[in-house]
Amino acid sequence: MRILLAEDDPTLQRGLAQALHETGHVTIAACDGAAADLLLSTESFDLLVLDLGLPKMDGLVVLERLRRRRQSLPVLILSARDQTHDRVLGLDRGADDYLTKPFELSEFEARVRALLRRGQAGTVRIGTLAWSWESREATVDDVTLGLTRHEANLLEALIQTAGRTATKATLAQLLGESGIAAEDNLVEVYVSRLRRKLTGTGVEIRTVRGLGYRLQEMASGSAGNG
Ligand code: CA
Repeated sequence: MRILLAEDDPTLQRGLAQALHETGHVTIAACDGAAADLLLSTESFDLLVLDLGLPKMDGLVVLERLRRRRQSLPVLILSARDQTHDRVLGLDRGADDYLTKPFELSEFEARVRALLRRGQAGTVRIGTLAWSWESREATVDDVTLGLTRHEANLLEALIQTAGRTATKATLAQLLGESGIAAEDNLVEVYVSRLRRKLTGTGVEIRTVRGLGYRLQEMASGSAGNG
């Protein structure tokens, strides 16, 4: 996913960019409103993280111009505690969610996840496999694969990074509890369980040695080995 991060505080910008990078997203940072506005009108993004108090062009103006161009990408507002009025204005002008500074990184990550999921509403298909972002259910020919919560989390992460490699660290973070990453071998256990359930679907989880895993359609002729 490509995320535009419009934040002028260098420390916060660095911290958020790092967190987004670690969860497998490509993050482009803009330090002022005018730069954000230019990027938004020339490039495509899946999410905008927008600080309201930006130099050169106010965050609210950036938002207004974005929606006037009929760009529908989700917007997460970051605002200081004394900007309640602006926050309400922001939601009125088409922002999807907001966070009040200071906030916990885990909270930020959860909001980003939710907005990205909402942005991809509907179903994604890889070969015969269909994944619903809404119900978080994987089906083949309308028959559910019956994934457990961890398996569904894993598959979702692999679908989100489809075409690229999902790192073991990212997946471990996902399977861990309350922010503590799971052991590497737990990732392996769940990957092998998920692989079993994907047998015959024509979709496979390829191991990228030393890096992680990649979800892909099998080359024709090699499907259905189970
Ligand atoms: Ca600011």
